[in-house]
Formats: sequence, structure tokens, C-alpha cells
Amino acid sequence: MIDLSTLYALIIGTLLVSAGLTAWEGFGRWRRRPLLIWAAGWTVLALGCSIAVARTHLPGLSGWAISNMVIVTGYLLVLNGVAALDRRLYLRTSVMLVAALGLGWMIEGSVHRFAFWQHTAGVPIMIASGLTVFELRRNRALRQLRTRPVAILLPAMHTAFYAARVFVLPLFAAHDGDAVIALASKITMYEGVLYSVAMPMTLVGLVREEAQRHLIAASRTDFLTGLTNRQGLFEAGAEVLRHDRAATLLAFDLDHFKSINDAHGHAAGDAVLRSFAGVMRDVAAPDAILARLGGEEFAALLPDTDRAAAKAIGEEIAARFAALRDHGEGVVVAATVSTGLAYAGADGDDLGALLSAADRALYVAKALGRNRLVSASPLFDGAGSEPARGVGAGAAARLVA
Ligand code: GH3
Ligand code: MG
Ligand code: MG
Repeated sequence: MIDLSTLYALIIGTLLVSAGLTAWEGFGRWRRRPLLIWAAGWTVLALGCSIAVARTHLPGLSGWAISNMVIVTGYLLVLNGVAALDRRLYLRTSVMLVAALGLGWMIEGSVHRFAFWQHTAGVPIMIASGLTVFELRRNRALRQLRTRPVAILLPAMHTAFYAARVFVLPLFAAHDGDAVIALASKITMYEGVLYSVAMPMTLVGLVREEAQRHLIAASRTDFLTGLTNRQGLFEAGAEVLRHDRAATLLAFDLDHFKSINDAHGHAAGDAVLRSFAGVMRDVAAPDAILARLGGEEFAALLPDTDRAAAKAIGEEIAARFAALRDHGEGVVVAATVSTGLAYAGADGDDLGALLSAADRALYVAKALGRNRLVSASPLFDGAGSEPARGVGAGAAARLVA
């Protein structure tokens, strides 16, 4: 017993509220453009529905054609907002679609006004919604988001609904005529009310979730080098060690870094820090967790890597870094690094313990003259093998004592 005007009034209201909420969100800094395009889209849809309510009072075909074209423009704005998430736009497609619809109204709509309004007018809505689904699916940046499946499902259902109006409804309408059309109109408007609430909320939710993900990623990233920061190392490291893998930790501290800063300036120091991060990336395996702990101190957590392999990686990093002269950005300077190595299990069970063990070894490496790797405990690799080259625990213990 719901009448059509009530549904129209509802839908116009919900669209305007959605437009307001979306615009409010858009005046924040994150994803300003898509949000403002969506806000415009919901407003234009509300305008289109208002014209649709008044269409019979407007001269001739104009009310029908204009409200249909305005509504389609609203859907196209929503599509463009979604595309703008990926810095794309559908301007040409949009203009062509609205122009084709106008032409359709002039040619076909003037003859079969009612059938055109009931069925054909849904075609561009179907296309715009379908393209919205396509855009949401192809955007890689959204792949990780929990909101994504919902954001895809809603316009997909909307597309299916309009496809039914376009292709299936005419078959029933031919049989039962006005009753079916009247019912279909009410269902369409009811679906529209739900869509005009659910879709804006979901899109705003999508953008919020994306912003949240960026913040979390930023909170774990070192701004200068792009490596993981201390927080990120502890989070990812806990995960690695929980799975009880053979992991090794390398702790690095650049040698006499203060004098590099003093001699070449802080900006040159920064370039050297970035260049060291680049060497770490080049040498370590992709599953290594590479971190800048702060200042000129770095760490690499190497999952599934025994001491001998980790030592080789640490020494390779140190050798490449020491051989570098050009650190990029016009900075030419010789620099070296001291390294401490700690092995999960032998030297500690959690990352904190491993880090202090590696730090103690690093201290020894500094005391022994820098530009070398020291292991927290002796490097026995299997039965009977000798402690590896470098300084074992005996020397370390003596020095620390
Ligand atoms: P050592 O061989 O004993 O490690 O000597 P060092 O000079 O490297 O050690 P120290 O701890 O005395 O100095 C570290 C320097 O690192 C001091 C600080 O100015 C510099 N530093 C810390 N963070 C940054 C940064 O982000 N950029 C630059 N350019 N320098 C930094
Ligand atoms: Mg230091
Ligand atoms: Mg240092």
C-alpha cells in the first residue's frame, strides 16, 4: 500500500542526506575529488527524481526526457567518482551516453513515451552501474579492503535489477499490463531508496578504510628510507618468530656517521642512509624484513636463514656498502658499517632479546675497529665445524667484560 509519491519523496530525501554526508567527508583532505564528485552525483540524482515527480506537469515530452537524462547524469557522476579513485574519468563515454539518450527520447521516445520511460530509459542506468562495477573491480589499490566486495555487490545488484527492467519486464507487461508496471515502479523506487542509502555509505566507508590503511602503513614505514620502522619490525618480527622459523637478526650501525654529517652536511648524511637502505634491499631476499631502527641504525630479520647464510648476507651488505663511493644525489663519500648477528633460539626467543644480543655483538664489532660482523654466539654450523671467520663469542665476552 505504499504510493509512488511517498517513495519519490523518500528517495529525494535520502539522496540529499547522502550528498551532504559525502560532501562533508570530501572537505576533509583524503580523496577529496571522488567524494565531491559523488556528492554532486547524489545531488543530481535527487534533482532528477524531483523533475520525475513533476514530469506530467511539464510541457510535452520535456519532463520525461529531462528527468531521465538528469538521473543518468547522476549515475555517471557516481561512476566518474569511482574512476577518480584511480585518477581516471569517463568524460567522453558520459557525454556520449547522455547525448544518445537525448536522441533516443527525440526519435523513439516521442512515439512510445511510456515504453521508453519504463524500459529503454533503464539502459543507460544499467550501463553506468555496470561500468561502476567494472571500475571498482579493476582498481588494484582497493583489492585489500574489506569494504570492496560490498561496494561491488551493490552496483552489481543494481545493474541486474535494471537489466530485468529492460529485458524481462516487457515480457510480463505485455501479459498483465498496468498492474505489473505499477508494481515494478514501486519496487524500482523501493530499491532506489535502499540504494541511495547503502551505496553512498559504502563508498564513504571504502574511502575511510583506504585512508586508515594508508595511516597504518605510514605508521610502520620509515619516511627517509622507505624501509620498515622499529614499530613495523616488531609487528612483523613477532609474526615471523611465532611461526617458529629459523630466523636470524642482523643489526647494523654505520661507522663514524657523525663525521660524515659534520664533513658533508646533514643532507649528504641522509643520502648515505638511503643508499645503505638500497644496498640492504639489493642483497637481502624478498622475504627479509628490513628496518631502520632510528638514526644510522638498521636491522634485517631474515626468516628461514641459518647463521652461516645470514653471516654471508651481512658481510655482502657491508662489503657492497664499503665499496660504494657514489651514494647518489651527488654525494661521494666512503662509508662503512658494523654488524651484529643474533640467531633465534640460541640468542633469544623474542625480537627484543634478539635485538639486544645483536646489539651487544655490534658493540664488540665497534670496539674491534668497525667495518666487521660479529656474531652474538659462536657460529657452529653442524657437527664439528669451526667458528666462522671473524670474532666468536669468546672474544666478544672478553671485550664486553
Ligand atoms: P660509531 O661509529 O661509533 O657508530 O659513530 P657514529 O658517529 O656513527 O655514532 P654516533 O651515535 O655518535 O652518531 C650518530 C649520528 O647520526 C649522530 C646524528 O647526528 C646522526 N643522525 C641521526 N639520525 C640522522 C638522520 O636522520 N640523518 C642524518 N643525516 N644524520 C642522522
Ligand atoms: Mg648509532
Ligand atoms: Mg654509528
